[in-house]
Amino acid sequence: MVKISVRTPLVELDGDEMTRVMWNMIKEKLILPHLDVQLEYYDLGMANRDSTDDRVTVEAAEAIKRHGVGVKCATITPNADRVVEYKLKKQWDSPNGTIRAMLDGTVFRKPIVVSVVPPMVRAWKKPITIARHAYGDIYKNAEIAVPGAGKAELLFTGADGVTTRKTVAEFTGPGVIQGVHNTDASIRSFARACLAYAISEKTEIWFGAKDTISKTYHARFRDIFAEEVAARAEDLQRAGVSYFYSLIDDAVARVMRHEGGILWACMNYDGDVMSDMLASGFGSLGLMTSVLVSPDGKFEYEAAHGTVQRHYYKHLKGEVTSTNSVASIFAWTGAIAKRGELDGTPDVVQFAKSLEAAALECVESGIMTGDLARIASIEIREPATTEGFIDTVAARLSALSFRA
Ligand code: NAP
Ligand code: MG
Repeated sequence: MVKISVRTPLVELDGDEMTRVMWNMIKEKLILPHLDVQLEYYDLGMANRDSTDDRVTVEAAEAIKRHGVGVKCATITPNADRVVEYKLKKQWDSPNGTIRAMLDGTVFRKPIVVSVVPPMVRAWKKPITIARHAYGDIYKNAEIAVPGAGKAELLFTGADGVTTRKTVAEFTGPGVIQGVHNTDASIRSFARACLAYAISEKTEIWFGAKDTISKTYHARFRDIFAEEVAARAEDLQRAGVSYFYSLIDDAVARVMRHEGGILWACMNYDGDVMSDMLASGFGSLGLMTSVLVSPDGKFEYEAAHGTVQRHYYKHLKGEVTSTNSVASIFAWTGAIAKRGELDGTPDVVQFAKSLEAAALECVESGIMTGDLARIASIEIREPATTEGFIDTVAARLSALSFRA
C-alpha cells in the first residue's frame, strides 16, 4: 500500500503514564501504517526531562517555532509526591507552561460532540470552544493580609519617577488586599490569537468582561479587542465571522441557551472556571481537545486531559484498562490536518478527517471506553478496553477509502 506523504516534519512531544502507553499505540496502529511522515521526536517523559535538566522541553518548543506544528502527549507536572516517585533532581516547571510562554500562545479547548453522548445542556448542539487568556490578573497577584486598621493605597512609580496614587480602602479592622495587573501587549496578543483562530475555523467570536464595574481594567480588555477586531475587519468579513461583545454575566447566561458553534474568548479567571464547566457539560475529559496557538501562527495540539495516573497504575499491575484515546487521536488529526493545510497537501488533510470519522463511527456504533459508556444515551454492555478501542478504529480506518 502506498503511504500518503507529509511534506514538512511534524514535531512530536511524547509524555507520561497512561497517555504515553496510548500514544505509542495510536502512532503505530493509526498513523504510521498510512502516513509517510518525518516525526521530529522529543521525549518529554518525566525521566528524560529530569536527565536533560528540562532542556528537552525548551528544544521541543524551539522545534515547534521552526516547523510550525507540533503534537503533544500529556505530561506530568511534578509536585512533591512526583519528586519522590521519580527521584527527581528538582520540582521541574510545568512543560505546558514553559511551551506556552515560549510561543506566547493562547490555549483553545474544543469538545468533540458525538450524538450518543448528549451534552448535559439541552441547547448545546455544536461545540463551544473556549480561549483562556493565560497571563496576569489574579494568577500574578500581590496580596497582603491586613492585620488591623490602616489605609491601603495603589501606587505606581513611572520610569520617569512620576507617581500616581489611589486609595483602595480605609481599614477599621483586619482584612485582605490584592493587587493585580495586565499588560496591553499580552491582551493584544491574546486578542490576535483569538481572531486568528476564529478566522481559521470560521467561527463566531464572543468576548465578555465586567466593564460596567471595572471602567479602566476590564474596559481596557474590551477596547483592545475592539481595536484588533477593527484591524482585521476585512479578514473577518471574508471569513463570514462576526464579533460579539457582551458583559460577562450576560455572556454566561447566553451560552447556556445557545446552540454552540462559537469561540468564547475569556479573561484568565473566567476561562479557568468556564472551561471546567464546559468540559463537564459536554460529557467527558476524554472528548476534550486543546490547541495552543501563537499570534504568529504556530500550533501545538494535545488532549485536554492529564496522564490518567489511576488507570496507569492498574495497567502496571497487569490489569485491563478502559482509557479513552479519542482526545489523543484528535490531537494527532488536528496536527496532521493543520500540517496538510499549511503544506497545501489535501490528501494529508483528508487522511486526518478519515481517521476522525473512523474514531467517531466507533463511538456512535456503541464501541466506547468506560468513561463514555457511563454517560452514553445508549446501553453499553461491555466497554472497550484501551487497546481494543484503538484496534477497532484501526480496522475501520483501513476499510475507508481516504485517498484523494
Ligand atoms: P487526569 O489525568 O486528566 O485524570 C483525572 C481523571 O479523569 C482520571 O482519573 C479519570 O477518571 C478521568 N479521565 C481523564 N482522562 C481520561 C481518559 N482519557 N479516559 C478515561 N478517563 C479519563 O488528571 P489528574 O489525575 O489530575 O492528573 C494526572 C497527571 O496529569 C498529573 O501529574 C498532572 O500533572 C498531569 N496533567 C497533565 C496535563 C497536560 O499535560 N496537558 C493536564 C492535566 C494534568 P477515573 O479515575 O474516575 O476513571
Ligand atoms: Mg480550572
